[in-house]
Amino acid sequence: MATIYIETHGCQMNEADSQYIVRRATSAGYTLAERAENASVLVLNTCTVRDNAEKRAYGRLHHWKAIKSADPSVRVVVAGCLAEQDRDRMASLLPHVDGVFGTKDLRALGDALENWRPEFSDDGETVDRELDTVIGGTSDGVTGPYDALRAFLNIQRGCSYFCTFCIVPHVRGRFDHRPLGDILDEVKRKVAAGAREIMLVGQTVNAYREPATGADFADLLEIVAAIDGVERIAFVSSHPKDLVEKLARVAATLPKMNPRFHLAVQSGSNPMLRRMNRKYTIEEFRDRVAMFLSYNPAWAITTDIIVGFPGETEADFQQTLDLCSTGMFAQAYMFMYSPRRGTPASHWEPVAPEIQRERFARLVAVTDAHVRGYHDRKIGTTVRALIHGVSRKDPTRLAAKTTDNVTVHFPMIETAPNLAEPWIDVKIDRAAVWGVSGIAVGRARAWDAPARPVEAPLIDLVGMR
Ligand code: SF4
Repeated sequence: MATIYIETHGCQMNEADSQYIVRRATSAGYTLAERAENASVLVLNTCTVRDNAEKRAYGRLHHWKAIKSADPSVRVVVAGCLAEQDRDRMASLLPHVDGVFGTKDLRALGDALENWRPEFSDDGETVDRELDTVIGGTSDGVTGPYDALRAFLNIQRGCSYFCTFCIVPHVRGRFDHRPLGDILDEVKRKVAAGAREIMLVGQTVNAYREPATGADFADLLEIVAAIDGVERIAFVSSHPKDLVEKLARVAATLPKMNPRFHLAVQSGSNPMLRRMNRKYTIEEFRDRVAMFLSYNPAWAITTDIIVGFPGETEADFQQTLDLCSTGMFAQAYMFMYSPRRGTPASHWEPVAPEIQRERFARLVAVTDAHVRGYHDRKIGTTVRALIHGVSRKDPTRLAAKTTDNVTVHFPMIETAPNLAEPWIDVKIDRAAVWGVSGIAVGRARAWDAPARPVEAPLIDLVGMR
């Protein structure tokens, strides 16, 4: 049987690209494999944004060499940003790799899968391609039979902002906004395939401009929200420079919007923001967030922060700490700066690793306290969340995501996926930095439908949670 294993590293753009690869593969007759060891084609969809991601990708590819050695008919493919960046290097370093497809070569990857398909024999087994298969297995991109519920949809590629630490404009190119008609067709296809939540994805989605008409991101949100069957809309990631009042106003008027706004600040210090080429001051950032919240007071603001960027002094870092101490962020994704080849910042004097680590620990302590506080406020409430899959940490539990992007864990309530009722009402009784947990008390067929009661699982009744 032709089987494909896809492992996705990195951002939601890669998730969206992997969904495209899955579509091409399944329509060519492949079945998705749960483990690399069981697949005829192995695809690693890679990321270069962090040094760690790059090292992990090379590690995985070396591991897959053993699989290829055991069965030379297996095809090993690399896709994504690292493929774009290291195309030539891979040819010499990884001779067992059969195909390297950059971010602009997805269609060619789909064509290659079709061409290879006849090489893998069929055993006649009937396969339910949508429900009985999963993508990935051990990576960031572990998803499962609930995949179709949350559709990632690229609305643009590349970025034109050239932050001095970022590799994206160099490997993905400048902004290339998708035509509105294409986006809407894909939204409708995803809804027909079972999507309840549409996640609009791009490096800077709020810079979106429809190539023909000039319609902006707020216009796009309104148009997507008007499509029948779309229950919820989310988007990631946004740039503070492009946070305009029209977007805040429109977001506040659309009941389908998920109340979560991811706005990467990167630093609280103006000298650092200038060095990073971020195109805003910290005062502008604060003012824009305040403006946004004046229209959308219940929204969660989440962010990205880089610690130890070249030239960062203790005073610069203190300003980042001060910003985070305000409790502005419901979640912060923090990274110690690591140089990316080909970017201006990679040539600059680094901050000593021990100073980076010490600052990182202090920042984590401050942000974690506020994140935990945000989660604590959910204790005693019942939240409605879209089911995501079996918890990676504990296979006796399911995981779901609230509309403000908080992970919710609860004891298993089903032995087979129930995609007809994907909205779970969970009564929250515990909170942590990673998210919240509780008991499922109801489930609903639609976001705004009444829930039918769910009985507590036996494992809970005996107090084993
Ligand atoms: S805005 Fe900056 S960090 Fe974000 S993708 Fe563009 S260049 Fe990279």
